[in-house]
Amino acid sequence: MTPTPADVLAPGIDTRLSVREGFTRDETGLRGRVPRGVVRARSTADVVACVRWAAAVGVPVIPVGARTSLEGHLLPLGDEVMLDVSAMSEIIRVDQSDFVAVVQPGVTRRQLSAAVSPYGLHFPVDPGADATLGGMAATNASGTTSVRYGGMRRNVLSLTVVTADGTVHRLGRQVAKTSSGYDLKDLFIGSGGTLGVITELTVRLHPVPDSQGSVRLSFPDVEAAVDAATDLIGTAAPVSRLEFVDAAATSALNGFCGGGLPPSPALFVDVEATSSAALVDVLDGVEAIARDHGLLDGCRAQSAADRTALWDMRHRLFPAIKAAHPGHGFLVTDTAVAYSRIAEAVARAHRVADELGVHVTTAGHIGDGNVHAVVPYSGATFDRARRFSDRMVEHALSVGGTATGEHGIGLAKKRYLADEHGSACVLMAAVKTALDPQNLFNPGKVLDP
Ligand SMILES: Cc1cc2nc3c(=O)[nH]c(=O)nc-3n(C[C@H](O)[C@H](O)[C@H](O)COP(=O)(O)OP(=O)(O)OC[C@H]3O[C@@H](n4cnc5c(N)ncnc54)[C@H](O)[C@@H]3O)c2cc1C
Repeated sequence: MTPTPADVLAPGIDTRLSVREGFTRDETGLRGRVPRGVVRARSTADVVACVRWAAAVGVPVIPVGARTSLEGHLLPLGDEVMLDVSAMSEIIRVDQSDFVAVVQPGVTRRQLSAAVSPYGLHFPVDPGADATLGGMAATNASGTTSVRYGGMRRNVLSLTVVTADGTVHRLGRQVAKTSSGYDLKDLFIGSGGTLGVITELTVRLHPVPDSQGSVRLSFPDVEAAVDAATDLIGTAAPVSRLEFVDAAATSALNGFCGGGLPPSPALFVDVEATSSAALVDVLDGVEAIARDHGLLDGCRAQSAADRTALWDMRHRLFPAIKAAHPGHGFLVTDTAVAYSRIAEAVARAHRVADELGVHVTTAGHIGDGNVHAVVPYSGATFDRARRFSDRMVEHALSVGGTATGEHGIGLAKKRYLADEHGSACVLMAAVKTALDPQNLFNPGKVLDP
């Protein structure tokens, strides 16, 4: 029998079943199909070759970075080829005087920060996991430092992308601002691998501040913690991280790492200053605001070692929750709402969890109005966990918020897109069809054209 074009293998494709099966599941608890194979690109030319082959034979392509995304972005739904760009990990250039770096998409945020630290610079976007910059751009990632530095949209100046016909385009310019033409760079940021493959990024770097300090502040209740956080934003305190944990979270941390935290809601705050004397004033100001809201207990950290210990505790929250619920999967919501709605959203999370009989911990980036609810589930409680997520999204949308502040729509949150965007979904589908008429890139994710 004469082979059809689809039988002709993509250049360098790995078709081992053990490798392909690794893509059928992720943190969502949803299952994907076994993909056709994995292609590992090492250059833009490799990506072009794979995309041209895929377009010619009609096989869809899913771009792959560090595989840390949380919403089923990478689950194959048909016969896709996984186009892994994580080995494209060269830092091409650091322009110290322009505060930019040019990188391949597989460079991770920690790799970049380590490379630019000798210049007194850092790349601030921190989604917790050591994700690739290509994957972070594709999900518009943000994290603990976004309250000060913004997420990927604010920190990516230009992209090189390969589109569905295998053409290489440069989007954006290496300048602090531009008003030129439609902003296609920002269209690709957050597109979840559905519009093309990012093969190069120019990102902003920031000077490492002269002095930084941290403080953990415990409050009698959620409202007090939220009000203190809102006041910190309102007084324009130079806050670079502003994280919330509820009482369930502090209990989990105490159980996991002997934290000795009061079992009550807390804020973890980082501030920046131009000198160590100024830093003391800033920290005094933060604690004064906390006292206005009934501060129960505070712990200040100024040395590098103490700050690391304080933030290590915050970063160990997810392992602590996992340890408290062995054998469970975990659903993590990431709705974002206006500051005035945060306390209501946290209270609602606990009320809905009680109604549905599931456990919940709330914690996250309160400085961005983006508080996560983490719900452990077993086979028997998976549907209830999903209902919990639906109720949280319903609430966020009803008060003008968003279904996803940072993780993206992927597959798991696709059912919320129409409720959030209404008729604008028609425009999104038109964009997808115009850029990817064959529905070649990550089909079935974000929206159906
Ligand atoms: C413990 C933990 C904590 C997390 N906390 C946060 C958080 O605070 N904030 C946050 O934003 N996220 C968070 N995440 C989610 C995750 O780290 C981000 O979504 C991250 O941006 C994904 O990057 P990645 O390299 O792993 O991409 P992948 O998971 O490999 O891919 C993600 C998506 O991007 C697409 N993609 C990947 N590379 C490219 C490319 N080169 N071109 C085009 N499309 C591409 C893929 O097709 C997919 O749709 C967390 C994850 C974990 C495990």
